[in-house]
Parts: sequence; C-alpha cells; structure tokens
Amino acid sequence: MTQNWQQQLQSAIKTPEALLQYLDLSKEHHNISQFGHQQFTTKVPLSFVNRMQKGDINDPLLKQVIPLTDEEISVPDYLLDPLNESAHNPIPGMLHKYHGRILMTLTSTCAINCRYCFRRHFDYANNNVGRSGWNAIFDYIKQHPEIHEVILSGGDPLMVNDQLLHQFTQLLNQYQQIKTLRIHSRMPIVLPARIDHSFLDWIDAQPFNLIIVVHCNHPQELNNEVYTAIQQLKQKNVTILNQSVLMKGINDNADTLIALSHRLFDMQILPYYLHQMDKVQNAKHFAVSDIVALNLHQQLQAYLPGYLVPKLVREIAGKKNKTLL
Ligand code: SF4
Repeated sequence: MTQNWQQQLQSAIKTPEALLQYLDLSKEHHNISQFGHQQFTTKVPLSFVNRMQKGDINDPLLKQVIPLTDEEISVPDYLLDPLNESAHNPIPGMLHKYHGRILMTLTSTCAINCRYCFRRHFDYANNNVGRSGWNAIFDYIKQHPEIHEVILSGGDPLMVNDQLLHQFTQLLNQYQQIKTLRIHSRMPIVLPARIDHSFLDWIDAQPFNLIIVVHCNHPQELNNEVYTAIQQLKQKNVTILNQSVLMKGINDNADTLIALSHRLFDMQILPYYLHQMDKVQNAKHFAVSDIVALNLHQQLQAYLPGYLVPKLVREIAGKKNKTLL
C-alpha cells in the first residue's frame, strides 16, 4: 500500500551513511562530514532519493543533501544569519522586511534538509511560536493596514497538518486587508504525496489569492509523481512559481537551467527567480561567481523565450527588495 506523506516522512533517510548505502556508494570513499551532519542533520525522503542516480557521488540531487567535509571550511564573510533576519524580527515567528508583506514561520522543520539553506542556522527555537504566538502576529497585522500579503516560509509550512492550516487561515481570514497568501514550500517537489485530498480540500476553503512557490533546482527533480501533484494544484487555480538557487556542481551550466525552465513550463510552473546563493556559513563550496552567473543568464536569455527566463537575483541584508544582478 502507498504510504501517506506523514509515513513517508517517518521513513526518510536520516544519516549520510544510510544515504550512501541506499545509493550503492561506499562510505569509505567519500568525504562525509559528521560535523556537518550534527550541525544540520541529514534528512531526505525516499521519494527524492529515488530520483538520484545510483553509484554517482556527483549526482546533482545527492549533492544538495549530503554533508561533505567542504562544509567544515570556514570563510569570514559567510555568516550564520546572512540576511540579518534577526534585525527584522519584531515578533517571534514573524519577519517584516518588505513593504505590504510579512513572512511567518509556522514550523521549524522541513521535509528535506538542504545543505545550502540560508536558514540552516536560523533561531527556530525562538521563532517556532505555535498557535499561542499567532495572536501577537495578528495584532501586528491589524496595526499595519498596509500589509496585504502573508508569506509562509521555511521551515516548510506544509509540514504542519491540514487541521492546523485550517485553523490558521480561518483566523487570518478575519483580516479583510489580507488578499494574498503565499506559501514557499519544497514539499510539492521533494514529497509530492503531501498534495493529497485533505490538502486540496483546504485549498477549496481559501478565500485568498493562493500562490505556491516551489523550490526546484534541477530538472531531474521533476518526475511523474511531481507532475501529478502539480496538476492537482493547477486544477484548483493555484498560481505556481519556481525559484532555484544557483549552485556550483549542481545547476551551474546553461543546458541544465534551460532544461529546467522547459520542464517546469511543461508542468505549468513559471520560472520566477534564480538566486545567487546567500552567503551562509558552511555552504561556500556551492557559491558561483557573479561573472559566471551573469554569463549563464545571458545564455538563458539567448535560448529561451522571455517568460521562461527566471530573474537572476541576490538578496542583500537590509534591502527592501531583491537585487537584480
Ligand atoms: S527552508 Fe527550504 S531550502 Fe531550507 S532546508 Fe527547508 S526546504 Fe531546504
């Protein structure tokens, strides 16, 4: 019998050794970092692992999730909080960086732990407020009538169950000023079973403009299971956008990025952003220089119609908007 998404989460691979073994790779020959694993534990659902090429340590999906000794290299300008989010954190569980929008975290966990994550050191312990903390955030919304959009972001908001999502959106719906609910989630990609009947029923009950921003970095992530999940969302008229992070050895070549845009469009997902990676401590080995990034972007512009070219952006701490490169 097919496992539901919660069961699939429980059976996710949670050690680098188990991951290597599953992929027929010998643990002795690869530079696994126990330091990295302990600092930010390995977690990968089997659904995602099954899209990796067995026997290939350089598989672009594997490289996103396996802690390697490269993480142990310390670089001065790579920081614990690269976007200085703590300075925009007036209430636990909420960030207010952008005009008209606030960002909330409903949970501290994700279905997958991505080694390049800019929040890998985020203080979730003091920002995982649960239901009891929502009132302070709702009061903040009331005091700021210019806020019209709530963004739910990582930890992955779809990690919370649908009952809690219902409770949250019923309360949020009391504030007529909120027109749009945006969900940033990697779950439709890494654990497509999350898009089940119960979640689709939750969507039906939403009065908001609903946007889901999925995070897909490589066309190999997009299999038939993902396709089915996305089509179910599209049937509910959800706007679906994609953002990717540009990473060395994973997607830093034009063919991969062009294939990604085409594959996303086949699934009715629009490429939205291609991010220069945030300078987060322990992830320097993924960094791509601006020169290479701009050159790649020019190739995308040359080979793709404009609507399939994601904006190449960087987030700069303290800036009110993303910065185009
Ligand atoms: S917040 Fe996004 S990028 Fe970070 S670990 Fe979770 S799914 Fe990965």
